[in-house]
Amino acid sequence: MKYVYFFGSGKAEGNGEMKEVLGGKGAGLAEMTRIGLPVPDGFTISAEACDYYFKHDRKYPKELTAQVQANLTRLEKATGKKLGDPFDPLLVSVRSGSARSMPGMMETILNLGLNSKSVEGLAKRTGNERFAYDAYRRFVQMYSTVVMGLPKDDLEEKLRQLKDRLNIKDDTRIPAEHLKSLVDDYKQFYEAKSGKSFPEGPADQLWGAIAAVFESWMGEKAVTYRRVEKITGLLGTAVNVVQMVFGNTGENSGTGVCFTRDPSTGERDFFGDFLINAQGEDVVAGIRTPMPLREMSNRMPKVYKQLENVRKTLERHYRDMQDLEFTVEDGKLYMLQTRTGKRSPAATFRIAMDMANEGLITREQAIERIQPDDIERLFYPVIAPSTKREDLAKRKIATGVNAVPGAAGGKAVFTAHEAEDWASRGEKVILVRRETSPEDVGGMHVAQGILTATGGKTSHAAVVARGWGKCCIVGCEVLEIDYSKKLMHVDGRTISQGDWLTLDGSEGAVYEGQIELARPEPPKAYSVVMGWADDIRKLRVRTNADTPFDARRAREMGAEGIGLCRTEHMFFKDFEQPEKSVERQLAIQEMIIADTRESRQKALDKLLPFQRRDFIGIFEAMNGLPVTIRLIDPPLHEFVPHERKQQEDLARKIGVPVEKVIRRVEQLHEANPMLGHRGCRLAITFPEILEMQVRAIIEAAIECQGRGVKVFPEIMHPLTMAKREMEILEEATRRVADRIISERKVKLQYLVGTMIELPRAALIADQIAEIAQFFSFGTNDLTQTTMGLSRDDAGRFLPEYVDEKKTGIFAADPFQTLDQEGVGMLIRWAIERGRKTRPGLKVGICGEHGGDAQSVKFCHRVGMNYVSASPFRVPISQLAAAQAVIEDKAARESGKRAKARD
Ligand code: PEP
Ligand code: MG
Repeated sequence: MKYVYFFGSGKAEGNGEMKEVLGGKGAGLAEMTRIGLPVPDGFTISAEACDYYFKHDRKYPKELTAQVQANLTRLEKATGKKLGDPFDPLLVSVRSGSARSMPGMMETILNLGLNSKSVEGLAKRTGNERFAYDAYRRFVQMYSTVVMGLPKDDLEEKLRQLKDRLNIKDDTRIPAEHLKSLVDDYKQFYEAKSGKSFPEGPADQLWGAIAAVFESWMGEKAVTYRRVEKITGLLGTAVNVVQMVFGNTGENSGTGVCFTRDPSTGERDFFGDFLINAQGEDVVAGIRTPMPLREMSNRMPKVYKQLENVRKTLERHYRDMQDLEFTVEDGKLYMLQTRTGKRSPAATFRIAMDMANEGLITREQAIERIQPDDIERLFYPVIAPSTKREDLAKRKIATGVNAVPGAAGGKAVFTAHEAEDWASRGEKVILVRRETSPEDVGGMHVAQGILTATGGKTSHAAVVARGWGKCCIVGCEVLEIDYSKKLMHVDGRTISQGDWLTLDGSEGAVYEGQIELARPEPPKAYSVVMGWADDIRKLRVRTNADTPFDARRAREMGAEGIGLCRTEHMFFKDFEQPEKSVERQLAIQEMIIADTRESRQKALDKLLPFQRRDFIGIFEAMNGLPVTIRLIDPPLHEFVPHERKQQEDLARKIGVPVEKVIRRVEQLHEANPMLGHRGCRLAITFPEILEMQVRAIIEAAIECQGRGVKVFPEIMHPLTMAKREMEILEEATRRVADRIISERKVKLQYLVGTMIELPRAALIADQIAEIAQFFSFGTNDLTQTTMGLSRDDAGRFLPEYVDEKKTGIFAADPFQTLDQEGVGMLIRWAIERGRKTRPGLKVGICGEHGGDAQSVKFCHRVGMNYVSASPFRVPISQLAAAQAVIEDKAARESGKRAKARD
């Protein structure tokens, strides 16, 4: 089996499509070589070798040794140099790279091939002893930490002490003889700690590095990153062995990271960081604060021009924004990496829109590029526009580099562990670090925002935070952080752990204290791309809203009606007039405690005006759009107090003996209330509740219609399970509704339908559809009852069912992402059966799954008319609905092609 792929001199065995095997970096290097860009020669050991390594008790496949040797020989031939040569040595970098980008989470070793002899050769050949020993120093340092796992800080400390002794700030100023002694010092440290001498043989070094890169795939930070990013199903990491090029040979050299467009805004600016006379990781690690890329046009105009051309070539080639790494060695440009660049949510929309308008991609491709998370993150907060400028000025304590836009507030913490700890207690935190390293990824993930004292826009912190759309400020050099005391000094003030900070990632501003945040207006590109999605999608997207406020907000987000209005929510709270909430609660409680029909009716009469007013508000907000109103659903015990004191209170207020309240509460107790007296079963046993609710709906609709509001009420019965049950409900509904309509002498169209949320209802959907004019799948309950999983309690063990490492029983939480196999089968059946009886049957979904992209795509495939999602998830569903159409089309076309081939 082939495990190693060569690239060099304009030819490559691999290509850009082979990400799974070569990893993103390897595939990028191969592809750049193929299209004639300047790439140093090298070879990639495939991720399949890594997969083998972990599956076979950390043993390499038997072919690997010979293949690596053959490719090394080929590399030596191509470069005219030999690894470990004492006169003119070949040096290589050994880098990780998996199919999905995991910035900084795995290992890299540079300058491999140096030993006590070849370093002399390098010094002579380059005529630069300082450079040669600096390279050697870096290699020994990296090898010690990465391969041998020695503590990085100890080695860094030795370097720091040396600089202090020499009174030098900049690494590049350390004279050669001191670097020599530093190398000796490192080697002694290596020997003392590991009990072995530092490897001199280049082959030993190379295999040590290969193993270390493979091992880093299972390292804690990489595993954590994959968990938080939900990356699964990859083979492992590839290993790239590439001829070293040096950005630190003098002022005519340098290294940089850039993006072909601005990853924060998406604008078509060539954007990045550059360091003169620096090597490899210096930019990414955020140790030195680099200069902006455009400075390079002054310092190295010719190379900059060349880089500009590379930028154009790569964007045209990949048709997406690229994240590039390059090095300039003595005025010659080398490309070291190209990959799809991580970008902020706003940039995702902007780049998709611009590229479609530029003809680089189609509109459909633009839509496919947006992920549900991008939409959610687009609405991350900003500083409330109402905040006074003077107030902001007073609180501002520092300005750093605005790496990821959005704003965030939280309590300052200075370590990633502390961040995780505090966040697990429900605290909002801002993680403040000198720089972040990949070990910090867990803490970064839970923090509201990230603030670092060093680093540029392409530093580790910025790249990782950007992928999450998380507010991040880097290079805030005025911060004097004292980790041991858990505080920082800035602007003459001291911020201790636990003190509140607010960050404005768009401005790079750091504020002391808590400042109000608000949701931002979406950018223009958002409306444009969402407009394209609207043109394509077949599914309508409604919202679940119980209040006029939510209904208005959902409509602003693009909702095309209400798919579920849970009327019982109105019993708890008066959303428009909060002071009336108690009155409402009392009325419903009085209704429940009542033991005669008359007294129940009296209480219901009090509730009627409240309900009518709510419905009027909702109809107005949804003028012209359908509104599905579901009658009362939860078991009645949810509305009455269970504690003695509150029971006494209630008894006093409604004028009944407390014993009566207690008795009634006891009567309502059920061992299994979710399967008990709830849903339409309440309307069957207490028809007067149904009558009140239907009356409120119809009277509200008539009133609105009289004022010119277009109303389309759809009255929905929850939890039905039998045809006769549905018949009773429908008759009762129409009796009340039609009487009012005829009394008022008006015309009003309304529908009567049901939720399908019990397996029995799904199974006999053909019978239910004889009565019901529409179905709405209540997939929360349908999941609960199909799987026999309690939606309230399953959280205790369900995570184990979805943990890939533990059991992997389900790919996702079935209460979030629809179980298409099981619950989905019932849904398909019910739609098919329902439409057999009633061909035009309107079908939707109103469980939480209506706002989950994967589930929405399923709803499209099974032919639903609409999905209904909570207001903020409406755009996610709209996008998923459009993507479903595109995926459908692609599947049909590939099916056709396959047929034609047969
Ligand atoms: C459902 O069961 O999916 C549903 C929408 O109803 P509820 O969540 O109110 O039970
Ligand atoms: Mg339900």
